[in-house]
Amino acid sequence: METFDVVIVGAGFSGLYLLHRLRSEGFSVRLLEAQSGLGGVWQANRYPGARVDSHVPNYEYSMEACWRDWVWTERFPGRDELVRYFEHVDRALDLGRDIDLDTRIETCRFGEDRRWTITAQTGRTYKASFLMMCTGFGSKPYTPELPGLASFAGICHHTATWPEQGVDFAGRRVGIIGTGASGVQVVQEAAPHAERLVVFQRTPVTALPMQQRKLDPAAQAAAKADYPALFVRRNSPPGNFCDIVRLDIGVFDASEEEREEVFETAWRNGGFHFWVGTFNDVLLDEAANRAAYDFWRDKTRARIDDPAVADLLAPIEPPYPFGTKRPSLEQGYYECFNQPNVELVDLRSTPIDSIVPRGVRTSAAAFDLDVLVLATGFDANTGGLTAIDIRGNDDKSLAGAWSAGVDTHLGMAVPGFPNMLMLYGPQSATAFCNGPTCAEFQGEWVTRLLQRMRAQGHSLIDTTAEMGNAWTAHLAMLADSTLFGRTDSWYMGANIPGKHRQLLNYPNADAYRDHLRHCEVSDYEGFVFR
Ligand code: FAD
Repeated sequence: METFDVVIVGAGFSGLYLLHRLRSEGFSVRLLEAQSGLGGVWQANRYPGARVDSHVPNYEYSMEACWRDWVWTERFPGRDELVRYFEHVDRALDLGRDIDLDTRIETCRFGEDRRWTITAQTGRTYKASFLMMCTGFGSKPYTPELPGLASFAGICHHTATWPEQGVDFAGRRVGIIGTGASGVQVVQEAAPHAERLVVFQRTPVTALPMQQRKLDPAAQAAAKADYPALFVRRNSPPGNFCDIVRLDIGVFDASEEEREEVFETAWRNGGFHFWVGTFNDVLLDEAANRAAYDFWRDKTRARIDDPAVADLLAPIEPPYPFGTKRPSLEQGYYECFNQPNVELVDLRSTPIDSIVPRGVRTSAAAFDLDVLVLATGFDANTGGLTAIDIRGNDDKSLAGAWSAGVDTHLGMAVPGFPNMLMLYGPQSATAFCNGPTCAEFQGEWVTRLLQRMRAQGHSLIDTTAEMGNAWTAHLAMLADSTLFGRTDSWYMGANIPGKHRQLLNYPNADAYRDHLRHCEVSDYEGFVFR
């Protein structure tokens, strides 16, 4: 059995950053990854059109060794380019020598020797003083119970388990269930090629224009002179993105003309600007939110030919407060529905009855299909963690501890699971934080914590049930005082039947980072060291 100071599970932005930092500080570290390559979600999500929604240079490490010689081709890079970026990072930081790929972890047990024993599906076992769970928010795909799904005679794949050889849509009848971020991206790829495309929508997405463009290598090289300053801004509050800043005023503090101008500018800038880069009360106040929705609705409806289809894609009345479900970025998504080969099916009024060998049967009609795409998302935030048999003190299981809801201290530690920390996990800023930003500030926090323990001769860290309850109560208060609590979304765990409904991500990355900082300067209040 191999023994390390630290075992990290997961080779996405979080795990790789932590490996680099802890190793640099002299800890012995091994990173274990289920997939055959690096990049986390970008390794797994190889469905047609998979693309990041954070624009260059936000979605990359701030370390010069990683950006100096790297050139992106597009403002919003696609999945293959992201995987190549992780190969570049691997070379730049020499990470691979401490990574075991194709190593899916099945059990993690904390023993009386104050160490974790970690066992892979392969039977290989590792021992470590510290266990760092970097399994991400979306490593467990979710497929709803669809009666008869196994009987479908055509090609059927979940977007997150897409086959490496791909699927040809040309001349085929394609059905897509789900219109979240992945669904939007696959629709755009299938619509130009499919003989017939049927999009099954339960809830409309408030997709925003990506404003994609090719990047000129020379301009990018010149822009790098500003990268150090940009990354300082991204990594210090108020920051999260290099160049998206929320105004310090509310929607109705501005005149009508100023409001229009702010919304227009954010719209033209594209990406997440319209979601998180306008007024400070859009996600807090119903009337402010409605103003943002109405702007989005009018812009969007103008692009859809058929008013009945527009009523489904961009209803007059908001289906939920704008931005409380993740707004996807689109490139011509709404125009797809003007094509004669594309049809929208409203699952609210005509739910799926069953999947049959020939296709999908709803309460109103039957749709013959050759390909069925399940763009149905993830058991987000918790699914990747509870899929592993993690046992803490007294053989208590993590899945059991969370069966009636998640409790953590700061989204970093779980009471009764000593020496286990989570990055990009439940109850931290996670999906409200640009991925690499979160990986870096949580990674730095963990690195300093372990250095402090080493300096003070401590070998054990835990938190208490009271701290777990208090953090959960704090998030519940945030759910109530923002508009997030009103919407059934995966932020609330509400996309999974039977899952406890609670706000699973801290909805303000800056405030979350302040909590981590406060904890550190108060000598890790809420943690117990031995
Ligand atoms: P991940 O990238 O999820 O990596 C987790 C790793 O853990 C995976 O490689 C997985 O295989 C591994 N793992 C899980 N379970 C086990 C196990 N039992 N044993 C071994 N290994 C295991 N964020 C943004 O900021 N902007 C975006 O535009 C954006 N777009 C996204 C689009 C998609 C389709 C998805 C799914 C996510 C997107 N995200 C985006 C969020 C994204 O998850 C983060 O940006 C970032 O990937 C988080 O990195 P991570 O290392 O924490 O987790």
